[in-house]
Amino acid sequence: MDQYSVLKQYFGHTQFRPGQETLVNGILAGRDALGIMPTGGGKSLCYQIPALLLPGITLVISPLISLMKDQVVALTAAGVPAALCNSSQSLEESQAVWSGIRRRAYRLLYVAPERLERPRFADLMAGQDISLVAVDEAHCISQWGQDFRPSYVRIADFVNTLPRRPVVAAFTATATAQVQEDIVRRLALEDPVRTVTGFDRPNLFFDVQKPRRKDSALLSLLAQRRGRSGIVYCATRSGVEKVWAALNGQGIPAARYHAGLPEEERRQNQDDFQFDRKAVMVATNAFGMGIDKSNVSFVIHYNMPKNLESYYQEAGRAGRDGEAADCILLYSGGDVTTAKYLIQHSADGGELPPSEQEELRRRDLERLQIMVDYCKTNRCLRGYILDYFGQDHPERCENCGTCQGVFTEADVTVQAQMILSCVKRVRDKLGYSVGAGLIVQVLRGGKNQRVRELGLDALPTYGLMRETSQEQLRALLDCLSAKGYVFTEPVHSTLRLGASAAGVLFHGERVTMLSQLRPQEEPLPRQEDKASPPPADEGLLTALKAVRNRIAQRENVPGYIVFSNAALADMAARRPRTIDQFLEVSGVGQVKAARYGEAFLSAIAAYIEKH
Ligand code: ADP
Ligand code: MG
Ligand code: ZN
Repeated sequence: MDQYSVLKQYFGHTQFRPGQETLVNGILAGRDALGIMPTGGGKSLCYQIPALLLPGITLVISPLISLMKDQVVALTAAGVPAALCNSSQSLEESQAVWSGIRRRAYRLLYVAPERLERPRFADLMAGQDISLVAVDEAHCISQWGQDFRPSYVRIADFVNTLPRRPVVAAFTATATAQVQEDIVRRLALEDPVRTVTGFDRPNLFFDVQKPRRKDSALLSLLAQRRGRSGIVYCATRSGVEKVWAALNGQGIPAARYHAGLPEEERRQNQDDFQFDRKAVMVATNAFGMGIDKSNVSFVIHYNMPKNLESYYQEAGRAGRDGEAADCILLYSGGDVTTAKYLIQHSADGGELPPSEQEELRRRDLERLQIMVDYCKTNRCLRGYILDYFGQDHPERCENCGTCQGVFTEADVTVQAQMILSCVKRVRDKLGYSVGAGLIVQVLRGGKNQRVRELGLDALPTYGLMRETSQEQLRALLDCLSAKGYVFTEPVHSTLRLGASAAGVLFHGERVTMLSQLRPQEEPLPRQEDKASPPPADEGLLTALKAVRNRIAQRENVPGYIVFSNAALADMAARRPRTIDQFLEVSGVGQVKAARYGEAFLSAIAAYIEKH
């Protein structure tokens, strides 16, 4: 068997993704390797495929238990013998794994780096034939990276104790040149094959919004995405609690995750999300690297993260299945204050000498500034990110908030005329001015007591802007005020017409506004239409999802472990009728075909019969 048939037979893919082939071939030829690929780029296959072809076992070093578990479950479902070794296992469990290792029952063994430092484990490993040591999330080795993990630094020592040096391969999604050099040096990689694939994730839509009220902006974003799975990141634990409570108050099924919750509850909540029992996860960045869920369709940042690497990594958890997904950041000036506070009070690098700690903080603040600039730029957002990672790109991506025109000037002359005329008519009728709140009420056709008592519901401008949301109207008012068409009289806070308003009302003067309005109000022109199957297959897709859910429930695994959304979409498009045709579906390997083929084929047959 060669790497191509392993790719097809076990993982069900017909083609390597960019970078994968070079790394796999390099490793198979006995070379060390360094793979830099974005989140969702397919780094796992780069060591999983060699693991199936090399004579000895592959040791995978991974920073988080949840990450390891997910991979072991996915591998097992694909028919690849794999296990993990960690501190949460019972004595019996770990004995079973150890005896499996001695029997050479596994192709891959996942461990946390700390495990390598245990003498008993090191002894066990010294007696094994280890072909490959794969270091996942390798940026944890660098204190310049954002997830520094001291025990990563000692991986090289462990490798040195082995009787025969295995191939060492390192993988990460975040690598500035400095982090890359750190990885090579600290893992003592010997002339590694390197691939740095593009960092671009074309299926992700990026946007930054600066809403006046984040919670209502969030609620409307979630309303547009009902039934989809997504993550809402907050900067602090209390932020998570607040947002989580707000979502629950609105009947949105949400789970929460932060380091302040008991381990047991965190696990439960993560499962609820992973198994699609709760569509939304509200979390701090503690919920992160461990998440390998492929059908996350949006990541909303309720607060700005500390740096662009973290942002791109967190946002990148959306759309791993290749389907269109949204990455939206809700920015406010307060986020900068919070981020600065977190940087100043961070315990990172606590074991370093003071001068180096100082240096660490200085870099953190520099990185923060780059993040802030991202939130304020009026350039293409994807372009901004790719520039940071040193990658070429076209000037406009056409799939971000900027390119889709958030910052284009919209003509709002008609709306301005309505608003100004309402301000004028209210004053003409009452003989005095009122506050902006009441003007908004009148324009939106509000039915409150004051409007009626004052007889404002009889004005011709009453209800003229019923279709415009409160937020939008407020934004328009801000714009008119910034341009001097209206002003707020300081003593009574009433809204008055400025001298220049006459130009708009009577002389045809045009008013424009940077169109910050679009994001909260209208559903974004989503790209998903390109990725998802033609509408005729929607019904079939729903049927296939039902089959998947049934199987997932029976086997007690998350749905995407059975088949990804992308696989189901391909299945719905191809409508296979035989096992051979079923095997052609992207993501269907031998074991899954044998295990699940019949259930899906009969669902497809039944669907075709009926339609
Ligand atoms: P990373 O670790 O780089 O973030 P993963 O290894 O978790 O990414 O892979 C992300 C997704 O891409 C998985 O759902 C995987 O099945 C899919 N994938 C990986 N390689 C391929 C390929 N060659 N063809 C199609 N899908 C792939
Ligand atoms: Mg990975
Ligand atoms: Zn763009």
